[in-house]
Amino acid sequence: MLASTKLERRAQDSGQQMYDLVSELYPICRSITGNGVRETLRRIARNIPLQIREVTSGTRVFDWTVPREWNIRDAWVKDSSGARVIDFQRSNLHVVSYSVPVHRKMTLSELRPHLHTLPDRPDWIPYRTSYYQQTWGFCLAHRDLERLRDDEYEVCIDATLEDGYLSYGELFIPGHTSEEVLISCHVCHPSLANDNLSGVAVAVALAQALQETPGRYSYRFLFIPGTIGAITWLALNERLANRIRHGLVLAGLGDGAPLSYKKSRRGDAEIDRVAQHVLRHISESTVIKDFSPYGYDERQFCSPGFNLPVGRLSRAPHGEFPEYHTSADNLDFVSAASLAESLFACRQILEVLEENGYYISLNPNCEPQLGKRGLYTAIGGSVDSGKCEMAMLWMLNLADGRHSLLDIAERSGLRFQSIFEAASLLVSHGLLQKELPSNDIGPVPQV
Ligand SMILES: [Zn+2]
Repeated sequence: MLASTKLERRAQDSGQQMYDLVSELYPICRSITGNGVRETLRRIARNIPLQIREVTSGTRVFDWTVPREWNIRDAWVKDSSGARVIDFQRSNLHVVSYSVPVHRKMTLSELRPHLHTLPDRPDWIPYRTSYYQQTWGFCLAHRDLERLRDDEYEVCIDATLEDGYLSYGELFIPGHTSEEVLISCHVCHPSLANDNLSGVAVAVALAQALQETPGRYSYRFLFIPGTIGAITWLALNERLANRIRHGLVLAGLGDGAPLSYKKSRRGDAEIDRVAQHVLRHISESTVIKDFSPYGYDERQFCSPGFNLPVGRLSRAPHGEFPEYHTSADNLDFVSAASLAESLFACRQILEVLEENGYYISLNPNCEPQLGKRGLYTAIGGSVDSGKCEMAMLWMLNLADGRHSLLDIAERSGLRFQSIFEAASLLVSHGLLQKELPSNDIGPVPQV
């Protein structure tokens, strides 16, 4: 039985744990490949039984190729006195991700084209990447750039870019059917808290909760580098993708903005309707957005060849908040309370997916007499008794095998939970019967 207050309490308890995980992972220098991703996955695996997969550099994945593996030990720019004026050890954002190794002396004017700043936000360090173009660079606060004098600088990026592997994590939680719900988040950003350690932390907490009680669906969690990770997984798992009935990309879930849901490319998939229903009942300020081919890994899951029913749950709009891809996306930018509310929304969405179904009234000729069955007194006196009665009446009227619980919730304006509880009560009094889902697609794969 659904119990949203219990869910809410549990989510709040998990808020601090999620924040602690974000804090633990925050210092690690991640990129789309390399030891930072591996270390991140290993730490996640202390919380959930994650399988860590390695895909060889050079593997063709649709129109892409798994890149060489990038690892970095240290990087700096020293002035002529030997002082580190830019120091990777102080922030891993100082180095453009995937910079090729470099070690030489140069003037400020030679160095200048390799320096990236945000003049509008002079105290913040930008986050920059160059995965597929061989170059190198440093990022720094604009104020620090302005302090650099004409001098001879020693520039060093002690990194390797060699054949290796792309690493990602996968967790499969079998349910009663082989139909799958996909939960995906990216693990390729270095010291950025909201984008996307918040998504990682919510996914871990969600997986922990789902492991406790197997549901109707099987659940597949992916902790993958953005873009190339999703493309790689889809290329290697085309057959498994057919099992995905619903999916969520989790990204940017720790900031203070209202929850927002971006619809799948289909726009009218069950996940789209369920997420809209849940968010609308959490707060009026939540936001629903149509699909666009810009954002996170929903771009790959919703590419036309797959067109999977995968939407995205976020908070602040992707790429539009000032802290996005800067050092200001730090541990102060995310909160345990926001993470808890995001987890609560995810759990509610999954509860609705799990319980949504069709019922048939066993007493369709005029209303059944509720009073003689004690159904009025069963609910009398409670604050929500009026709503419960309305939920029962709607349920009895629309339980014709053609309206799902979600349809009835939407049509009545009531919460799914109220409709589900009414249905359960009416079933226990012999007035309704649940129709068994007939769309299972075979045995649960043990992968
Ligand atoms: Zn990002």
